[in-house]
Amino acid sequence: MLDLTLIPAIRTTLPPAFEARHLIDGQWQGSADGATSERLSPSHGTVVSRAAKGGKAEAEAAIAAARTAFDDGRWSQLSGKARATVLLKVADLIEANVERMALVETLESGKPITQARGEISGAADLWRYAASLARTLHGDSHNSLGAEMLAVVLKEPIGVVGVITPWNFPFWILSQKLPFALAAGCTCVVKPSELTPSTTVILGEHLIEAGLPAGVVNIVLGYGQPVGATLASHPHVDMVTFTGSTAVGRGIAAAASSTLKKVALELGGKNPQVIFPDADLESAADAVVFGVYFNVGQCCNSGSRIIVHEDIAQAFTARVVELSRQVAFGDPLDPATQVGAIVSREHGAKIDAYVTAARKAGATVALGGAPLEVPGLTPQFYQPTVVTGVTSDMAIAREEVFGPVLTVLTFRTLDEALTLVNDADYGLSAGVWSENVHTCLAFARGAQAGTVWTNTWMDGFPEVTFGGMKQSGLGREIGRYGLDEFLEVKSLVMRIGRTRAPWVRGQG
Ligand code: NAD
Repeated sequence: MLDLTLIPAIRTTLPPAFEARHLIDGQWQGSADGATSERLSPSHGTVVSRAAKGGKAEAEAAIAAARTAFDDGRWSQLSGKARATVLLKVADLIEANVERMALVETLESGKPITQARGEISGAADLWRYAASLARTLHGDSHNSLGAEMLAVVLKEPIGVVGVITPWNFPFWILSQKLPFALAAGCTCVVKPSELTPSTTVILGEHLIEAGLPAGVVNIVLGYGQPVGATLASHPHVDMVTFTGSTAVGRGIAAAASSTLKKVALELGGKNPQVIFPDADLESAADAVVFGVYFNVGQCCNSGSRIIVHEDIAQAFTARVVELSRQVAFGDPLDPATQVGAIVSREHGAKIDAYVTAARKAGATVALGGAPLEVPGLTPQFYQPTVVTGVTSDMAIAREEVFGPVLTVLTFRTLDEALTLVNDADYGLSAGVWSENVHTCLAFARGAQAGTVWTNTWMDGFPEVTFGGMKQSGLGREIGRYGLDEFLEVKSLVMRIGRTRAPWVRGQG
């Protein structure tokens, strides 16, 4: 008897497979060679979508369309107001289509339907926020250079942007990038993950309906090789914005170096939460459970390691285990489900291998540590797992497991906690739990992470920028800094009147 909370398969009729095609220069099209790929639902095992599988030819055609659309100014030279009007219409269309988009997102990714609904409607807000930036975008003026000089710093769209996205938050991550690139005036070629293409394609329908000119956003479906790789290396692409694994991110940076294009990378994390004895321990335990199981732990921001003060470690871990048993794992289509399926069979095996290796290295599996059988569904589920007795040299403490697996380490002093926090290749996010504001601030100043949460976990807002330090990435997304990534800076220096003394004095 596992004593976990399981939601078995509900009886329902699944929709027919979604047919996904490329969008190139305003035209929906299949691949020239007719190639397609099918996505099986990780939870239900049925075909969710059948997508055109692009090659180099489709990638190059899309880049050419985006290049022409940028260079002729059909989007980049519109006013911010005109661009904002389109982005706002897209936001309305996303909201009007939440149910349709959430259903296919759930079936392709395995995430719970309530979460998918939240992500799609939340993404509409990212489009609205980006619209507000399109209208308020401005540079600087320098009017203290002397009466005869005036300089302005212009912010101009960087050009053609390649947008490469992962499978874990397909629509949310697309919406962290695309509306900001469009607000800046860029044109784009989007390549969604081959595992989750459908909501990106549905967005293409919304873009057309909202009146976005043809060629401004092009979508090419298919694999990293050759579609993503072509975007990264092509001389007519000015920037690539990528979210995905650190290994692929490194390859993209290398491919981009041949043309020295700008690269923005949102990569992995091994995000710690440090729990002090004076914290509100009930809230902390709840947030730890949320942080590790949300999206089955397949989340760059997953709170996959906790560092707990020795005095409370045993009791706190016991409470986390108790709460973990109450989290509803099971059929993503049931609104009661909080945690769904693992994205692929291979990924499930990788998660299990980390737990097995930790066991062998001397760690204790306090809960879970094996695949989870959900009646009526595929074997692609994994038990909520808590691993204690972990030391910082174990792979499970250092590498991104990307599954519902929590590792527990302990500390005695703030300095010791910060050493453990920063002893990592990653630097995406970190959290601290304490009722003492000085402890929280000292932690926040010392932690090497792009985001630090105090007494909360994974809260985010379109206004507040996001990104990683160290090997978690380059550049920032959302917020005002997120817009800046897509802007080139040009200085314009002007002389007022003919007051400059001639440089050529002449000898005669
Ligand atoms: P992935 O790196 O395997 O793939 C991401 C995208 O890159 C996909 O579209 C894929 O087709 C494409 N790709 C693969 N090889 C490529 C190549 N050679 N050239 C160009 N493109 C290529 O990542 P994934 O498995 O889809 O996503 C999981 C990873 O994403 C995790 O490591 C996670 O931490 C990271 N992630 C980071 C953030 C963040 O904001 N920091 C957010 C979500 C996910």
